[in-house]
Amino acid sequence: MTAIPRDHPRYRSLMARERLVAAPELVAQQGLIAHGRGEAFDYLLGEATCPPARQAIAAAAAALHRAQRPVISVNGNVVALAAREVADLAAAVPATVEVNLFHRTPARVAALTAALAEIGVAALGAEPDDCVPGLASARGLCCRDGIGRADAVLVPLEDGDRAQALRDMGKTVLTIDLNPLSRTAHITIVDELVRALPLLTIAVEARAKVGTFDNAANRRAVLAFMAERLGTLSFNTSRP
Ligand code: ATP
Ligand code: MG
Repeated sequence: MTAIPRDHPRYRSLMARERLVAAPELVAQQGLIAHGRGEAFDYLLGEATCPPARQAIAAAAAALHRAQRPVISVNGNVVALAAREVADLAAAVPATVEVNLFHRTPARVAALTAALAEIGVAALGAEPDDCVPGLASARGLCCRDGIGRADAVLVPLEDGDRAQALRDMGKTVLTIDLNPLSRTAHITIVDELVRALPLLTIAVEARAKVGTFDNAANRRAVLAFMAERLGTLSFNTSRP
């Protein structure tokens, strides 16, 4: 890994890149592109958790708390960036963790389950014995004791098709995704994964009750937050 000075103004962001690049056995090359898309949205959000995201986190915590069989579905990016944070959330809920990959190879699934085992998480996913109807890709493969029988699934970095297919199975779908235009989940936390997961864990531990949550209104609030921020910046930027 390239040594990034701690006082670099974009230390966190650069370290995340280093972690992804340093783990080719965990992260597909396509995952680097997906991360770049997330970075761009995060830049627009000011790289901080916005108020509507905090509301979505509270609603997601309540949904995880209510669920009988909650599952956290993870891919390479999620494990490379936030394995520890996933482990903490899984312990707090408690929830099952399952590895689920679009660019699936047995070697990558094995490397991901091994990385999670190292920090005490016995993740499912290596031996799929069930499938999500309507998904042709390898993402349709799943484990009966995990995603197959789950009533709520947290899918960080939303994949629209899969979120819809899980909804069609009657499951509650929660996501953490920096793209405020993704809209297939029941609850979309528009925030960066590594920032949002610890907040979600704290909210789960607090066991706070939450009233009704309107996901479409929440996503509109995130877009309004972004637009207002860009408006302010456009006034503050010196003009030629
Ligand atoms: P679409 O969102 O257009 O339906 P997709 O989800 O299949 O397609 P990807 O390229 O896999 O397309 O998208 C990855 C998503 O993950 C992007 O929306 C990006 O904003 C988001 N993302 C990437 N890194 C992070 C991160 N660290 N935290 C939160 N979200 C992230
Ligand atoms: Mg998406």
